[in-house]
Amino acid sequence: MVRLPHPVRLRRRGARRRHCGTEITSRTGARRRLPRVISLRRPAALAVAVAAALAGLGLADPGTASAERPAAGRATVNDKHVIAISVDGLNPRALKRLGRTGTPNLHRIIKDEGAGTVDARTQLEMTVTLPNHTSMVTGRRIKASKGGHGVTWNDDKVTKTVQQAAGREVGSVFTGVHEAGGTTAVYATKSKFWLFERSWPKAVDKNVIEVERNGAVVKALLADLGTAPASFSFLHLGKPDQVGHHAGWMSAKYLRAVAKMDKLIGRVMAQVEATPSLRDNTVIVLTADHGGIPGTRNHTTRTHRDNYRVPFAFWGAGVTHAELYALNPDRAKPGRARPGFGAAPQPIRNGEVANASLDILGVDPLPDSLWNSAQDLDWK
Ligand SMILES: [Zn+2]
Repeated sequence: MVRLPHPVRLRRRGARRRHCGTEITSRTGARRRLPRVISLRRPAALAVAVAAALAGLGLADPGTASAERPAAGRATVNDKHVIAISVDGLNPRALKRLGRTGTPNLHRIIKDEGAGTVDARTQLEMTVTLPNHTSMVTGRRIKASKGGHGVTWNDDKVTKTVQQAAGREVGSVFTGVHEAGGTTAVYATKSKFWLFERSWPKAVDKNVIEVERNGAVVKALLADLGTAPASFSFLHLGKPDQVGHHAGWMSAKYLRAVAKMDKLIGRVMAQVEATPSLRDNTVIVLTADHGGIPGTRNHTTRTHRDNYRVPFAFWGAGVTHAELYALNPDRAKPGRARPGFGAAPQPIRNGEVANASLDILGVDPLPDSLWNSAQDLDWK
């Protein structure tokens, strides 16, 4: 009798097939879907799916199935789900100003239920969007000559890949999950986020870019959580940054934008809690790319505390309710400071998202990554 090689992984493979196809949304909001080309884009997935079907009939050729497994030495993704959420331009001062009433869900994640802190740090070299998000998904610093990812631009006009920026191969949470047999999805509200799919086209299974449409990307995420949740989902909510540039950080409009993002995040949490298959194995990892200086419309001064202080939190299945630094004696709360690369211990940084997410999913850290490369950031 032939046994299924790994039931959990087969289920994930099935999920990936349903995930195939990349959604493209133009600036005008018109949407089209690329044709599903499973045999071209996901040859391994198809082969494993066929092997799984044959195995179910007792007809599997074990040699065929094992040939499609991840390379020896790589961990195989477990059955958990990670939803990484980045709230663009979220200055933790907003949580204090709005309080529990104004931001109940961010409070649940960061303070009331999850393992969180409002004293994490951005990247040292820059406090702008795309470089910091690239650090979140690669676990690398920015400066290419020091092993960083090299993404120093912050617009959608540069069409380079991360590999071209770095001058070498650069892995990401997407490639890590993918090589371990899992699935990935990106939901983002700025067109510059095409960088991820452009850089790791085989590892980003689904890419939803809805420019300045935060509700729309959350809706897409919720739909996928209901049908075929990815192992790793990355949600970017851009409205606080957008409003901050227009009306100023901590302005009434900015605070309203943060409160609105809180409601959207609450919808994600509610769906996780209401879905039995998600409730017991989903973790939200929340952070921000940078803050912004109150009363100004910018966040580019990397040495300003209002720019470099961000939240970092875990919430969900298996997460201990604690202050995140209390759970992590090998990280040091930085007070008002901006510790450098040589500081020991290091503060918790937004660039820890990639290796922390891989850790939750049972996958090895990314080769040559820097932040949380020992996967020693604890959430329980
Ligand atoms: Zn900005």
